[in-house]
Amino acid sequence: MIPIEYQGMLAPFMEPPPTDVLGAARALGLAVYSTPLPAGISGVLARDPSYGTASGFVILVDENEPVVRQRFSAAHELGHYILHRDSIGERVEDNYMLRAAGMTSLQETEANRFAADLLMPREAVSLAMSEGFTTVDQLAARFNVSRLAMGIRLGLPT
Ligand SMILES: [Zn+2]
Repeated sequence: MIPIEYQGMLAPFMEPPPTDVLGAARALGLAVYSTPLPAGISGVLARDPSYGTASGFVILVDENEPVVRQRFSAAHELGHYILHRDSIGERVEDNYMLRAAGMTSLQETEANRFAADLLMPREAVSLAMSEGFTTVDQLAARFNVSRLAMGIRLGLPT
């Protein structure tokens, strides 16, 4: 679900795992800030009020959540930027379930698929398994994602 025109640019940040989400965002002209967010909000994609970023957007993630969650939230917001930025207004605020007012459930699914493909590329997961990372715990640690996210990627029941 990573658009083909972005694959070449993002590839260097995805190899080897774990994916460098901040580097990928920076390369696309976005700043990512880990900061306290209002209760119930996990990720925000907002137009940059200071116009300091090349893209004109910033991503905020909740510093009180585990790093693996912050990484997934940042990747999800990057997905909204890449896939949906023309249809958003001033900001998108995703709740704990990574759903935002003004975004359709299809758009949320697209952003989640983008995040999963950015953080856990299928070929890289297969390669890691062939290298001996065979449990959900081992793979989650290798890709710096939550056990839940890796379990979903592997098609395990949640
Ligand atoms: Zn979202």
